Amino acid sequence: MSAAGDKTNLLGLPQRELEDWFAARGEKPFRARQLMQWVYQRGVTSFDAMTDLSKGLRAKLDDMATIGLPVVQSQHDSADGTIKWLFASGNGQAIEAVYIPEPSRGTLCISSQVGCALDCSFCATGHQGFNRNLTAAEIVGQVWHARQVLSPRPNGESAITNVVFMGMGEPLANYRAVKPALEVLLSDWAFGLSRRRVTVSTSGIVPHIDRLAADCNVSLAVSLHAPTDELRDVLVPINRLHPIGELLDACWRYAAQHTNRYITFEYVMLRGVNDAPEYAEGLVRLLKGKPAKINLIPFNPFPGTEYERSSADTIRHFQQRLRRHNLIATTRRTRGDDIDAACGQLAGRVSDRVQRRLGERTISKSPDRRSGASRNRATV
Ligand code: SAH
Ligand code: SF4
Repeated sequence: MSAAGDKTNLLGLPQRELEDWFAARGEKPFRARQLMQWVYQRGVTSFDAMTDLSKGLRAKLDDMATIGLPVVQSQHDSADGTIKWLFASGNGQAIEAVYIPEPSRGTLCISSQVGCALDCSFCATGHQGFNRNLTAAEIVGQVWHARQVLSPRPNGESAITNVVFMGMGEPLANYRAVKPALEVLLSDWAFGLSRRRVTVSTSGIVPHIDRLAADCNVSLAVSLHAPTDELRDVLVPINRLHPIGELLDACWRYAAQHTNRYITFEYVMLRGVNDAPEYAEGLVRLLKGKPAKINLIPFNPFPGTEYERSSADTIRHFQQRLRRHNLIATTRRTRGDDIDAACGQLAGRVSDRVQRRLGERTISKSPDRRSGASRNRATV
């Protein structure tokens, strides 16, 4: 529970915690539901305007509590309708959230950390390093703000039909805040999203995949990116701790919690690195006959990266090869790249607080091309 000054920030508290908070102050637990409806469904954050609460309770709330929203720094509108917001996260830093409207849904992509410590070699967030975890209020606040400013969809549905944790940070490395935030997203008194329409994307923190299954069981996406430990160790360094076999076992345990439940495997297409036919065959060996969908993501470049995007033809052939083996494979359409809002381009503003010693990249096709902007890392 976070406090602003000596006041408690009630934003981001799941129903049970909010009920306890009211009960501890001699109030009926159902006040929690009323407050959640005001804040999340009607967008009201002034206690004084919550007219079904008694005057006395409103004054008490004013004294003791606040609805602390994140500070919006800027909004960027892409030509393709994608919208990106920067939210201040203290000390001159910022995190980002992106709204992607499509004919069948409106997806909000949110951040869970200021930066990321996991250092995947092809990711702009990873390149920036890690500063701190976001609080549940800061995570939920991104959704609250987007919902406030976006107009409902043409069919009258709320603008945000889906939420994905695919912005900055590794959500399962900040499980303490992500879990209550998920509860608020799913709560009928708050955003009321279905579990199928909320997706946590992880690079593979295995113990937390099991916890997520037990706690929330939202949709799961896993950043696989390579079919062999040898390559994945380099692209997604957390693989050295939780290798592919262990990760996939956790995925199948996760999928077994529900019938008809698929895990999405994200696979970034990096020219000359992981896009050869043998890698598609490797994926077939790992995923054939399993509840798996593969989502190929054309690599989105960012300043200082040594990687390049696979050609459209290569991506198409890779996808066809997977499909020939009856795997479900799609290619993610790149959206919002004119405002640096595409997958993996979200960098916000982060000052790195982690002294990482993950070694030199060994996968670069032409290491001598690395620009000065690329960070030099200590070699272990
Ligand atoms: N940390 C989580 C979620 C954030 S990243 C994770 O890694 O899953 C969301 C997705 O974008 C991940 O699959 C990630 O691997 C991918 N991604 C990262 N950098 C990218 C880039 N430059 N181009 C395309 N996709 C990228
Ligand atoms: Fe972190 Fe995900 Fe980027 Fe890897 S891909 S550095 S886990 S945000």
